[in-house]
Amino acid sequence: MTEPVISESLAAARQRLADALQQAGRPLADARLLAVSKTKPAAMIREAWHLGQRDFGENYVQEALDKQDELADLAGIVWHFIGPLQSNKTREVAERFAWVHSVDRVKIARRLNDQRPEALPPLQVCLQVNISAEASKSGVSLDELPALAEAVLAMPRLRLRGLMAIPAPAEGLDAQRAPLARLRQALEGLRERFPEAPLDTLSMGMSDDLEAAVLEGATLVRLGTAIFGARQRHE
Ligand SMILES: *Cc1c(COP(=O)(O)O)cnc(C)c1O
Repeated sequence: MTEPVISESLAAARQRLADALQQAGRPLADARLLAVSKTKPAAMIREAWHLGQRDFGENYVQEALDKQDELADLAGIVWHFIGPLQSNKTREVAERFAWVHSVDRVKIARRLNDQRPEALPPLQVCLQVNISAEASKSGVSLDELPALAEAVLAMPRLRLRGLMAIPAPAEGLDAQRAPLARLRQALEGLRERFPEAPLDTLSMGMSDDLEAAVLEGATLVRLGTAIFGARQRHE
């Protein structure tokens, strides 16, 4: 498999995001790229960092820790955990990441809160919402979201920043937008309910649906393939 030239694919991804924001009538500073580097070698992350990319997303705890060790010299790098999170892995995530996008139950949130080291700033959290029920077993339901948000907001070592979703694959802008609109509306609902909370993040949009996500208000788009090329291993 041919590897992309990171300088080119990253520039293309930035342009794509800029075009999508412009199309949506939103300012350029409104959304940023999260480079999803799962299964990709540390050297590719280093290359992207040299090109100014700072936010990186990983799905597998052990793989991420190995890369973090290898890349400990990269100033300002921000690690996001975006994969399914089991109870027995929360400590590593609480200790080694700045963000977690995949919190979908109180038990996991409570462990992260208890395990977040005092020396670090609070862990930045997005709640993963199941917006297309048939596609995924992870994610809190829209019905249960307010209660989970309320619980997380009471946890001092977590900072609830917003919502994340992985919609079922869909063809065409309108079909892609429908579930993403539900996530945007869910965030709007939480903002009304919890006006004091710093709810500024909609983590949505991947390589196939970035434009739809930006039209629906995404602030953090998670691009893997578009930056690092196709993955050989399963996700
Ligand atoms: C793998 C992954 C991505 C990136 O997907 P691409 O289609 O390669 O851009 C984004 N978000 C999550 C949660 C992922 O697991």
